Amino acid sequence: MTGGQTTRFAPAPTGRLHLGHLANAIYVWGLARRSGGRVLLRIEDHDRQRCRPEYEAALLGDLDRLGLAADEPSTDELRAGPSSYRQSDNGAVYVAAFERLATATDVYACDCSRTTFAAWRARNDRAWTGPGCPGDCLARGLDRRPGLLLRASLGDRDERWDDLLLGARSGPVSPDGDLPVSDRNGNWTYAFCVVVDDTRHGVDLVVRGEDLVDATPAQIRLARRLGRATPPRFAHHPLIRGPDGSKLSKADGATAIGARLDAGHTREELFGEAAAMVGLLDDPRPITFDEALHLLA
Ligand SMILES: [Zn+2]
Repeated sequence: MTGGQTTRFAPAPTGRLHLGHLANAIYVWGLARRSGGRVLLRIEDHDRQRCRPEYEAALLGDLDRLGLAADEPSTDELRAGPSSYRQSDNGAVYVAAFERLATATDVYACDCSRTTFAAWRARNDRAWTGPGCPGDCLARGLDRRPGLLLRASLGDRDERWDDLLLGARSGPVSPDGDLPVSDRNGNWTYAFCVVVDDTRHGVDLVVRGEDLVDATPAQIRLARRLGRATPPRFAHHPLIRGPDGSKLSKADGATAIGARLDAGHTREELFGEAAAMVGLLDDPRPITFDEALHLLA
């Protein structure tokens, strides 16, 4: 291990904190500690339609109740006002990054809809695969306007990386078309924001759930196109599963942290449950956060 890696805990305030976040926190803080590194807290509220300030307030409150403190910033700093660590406070950063990207590669408006993809599939008897898009929008040179997404041409071929938890991995950069960097509502996309943020915040270890493995090649390529010589390392951990092996989501009320604490469950019970749900413990039992981190040692 190289020492002193910087990683981040980066929830989106689109709902309440749940056991999946807690499992992620164990890996984020655990791997940071293992490398002698540090954890940043980032509010990923790039989606203006889905994020709400009351969810952010609840999320910060839940972190405090759990005793989860990032090295930077504190929850009080985030409550106090605008922050470098809240995406909605940094609009100019993404505009500047977009302009930089547009000088490095083709960025274009795309009016492809589900219908376009379905029509392509019907004509070709297989699903569309990238790069580009089925409507050939790059060649059409559409005007950028509300209602159209923006894609960045990142080329083809695979990117490979040495995943800290999964080992050597590789995958296509444009599995289902060129990467969208702005959605139809004009929001910068998750992929674009995290690459810009990880670069500007000096994050060199990204710790997240396995559901994002397929998004990784495009993010590595995008980081390079934005001028980052060495993309971050990645660690993709298991997602939480119910006792029957089913995937749990924040829609499952039983996993909501705030509600569980309100009902009298201890944070140690919740840490133990989260650790068991990702296979770090055989059976749930109350453990401190510190004990949970040592499960990764
Ligand atoms: Zn298109």
